[in-house]
Amino acid sequence: MAKHIGPVCKLCRREGEKLFLKGERCYTPKCAFEKRAFAPGQHGKTGSRGSATRTGRESDYARQLRAKQRARRVYGILERQFRRYYETSQTRRGLTGLNLLQILESRLDNVVYRLGFASSRAHARLLVTHGHFMVNSRRTDVPSMILKEGDTVEVREGSRSLAYFKEMGDLAEKRTSPAWLGRDIKKMSGSIARLPERAEIDGNLNEQLIVEYYSR
Ligand code: SF4
Repeated sequence: MAKHIGPVCKLCRREGEKLFLKGERCYTPKCAFEKRAFAPGQHGKTGSRGSATRTGRESDYARQLRAKQRARRVYGILERQFRRYYETSQTRRGLTGLNLLQILESRLDNVVYRLGFASSRAHARLLVTHGHFMVNSRRTDVPSMILKEGDTVEVREGSRSLAYFKEMGDLAEKRTSPAWLGRDIKKMSGSIARLPERAEIDGNLNEQLIVEYYSR
């Protein structure tokens, strides 16, 4: 499974905003962006490279590239896979940009995160790869699995006695879950009621710029 293996806080500093990639830590003063809100690298503070302090007018290409990179980083996906999602989104009916966001939201790791069963997408990916979840009553360890309407996700019976899952209920209660997902915290399960509408997908994403980037 391909994933970003560098320091993730640098990604927030590169994008010039908090991407909330580290779960609970992102909401504490330990957040690296709270301490250093400028792009990483030698020229980060002076603003010639990093978006955190970028000055002057950006080219259309730069804005499109940033929008694409930002979405990739939010969902933790490498370029090749992201492009594949874009190509799939073109084959679906409707708006390509919205199709792309719906595909990203339908990934198993994102659904586990959105259900409140993990503190971040990276954490959800780890839990899935360790085989703690079942999709439609079948064990899976593939975080990139794309779920569809009606699919169910639940914590595997054998994992429920683990310390993390014993406490997970309390943690999940504090996290909101979107309306397009159904969840039953007591049963440690959830389901895809429908695909999300655009207004239900947060994360400051600009799918139009992403489409423009790949349409060049
Ligand atoms: Fe980004 Fe979270 Fe790191 Fe802060 S703690 S810089 S929000 S990943």
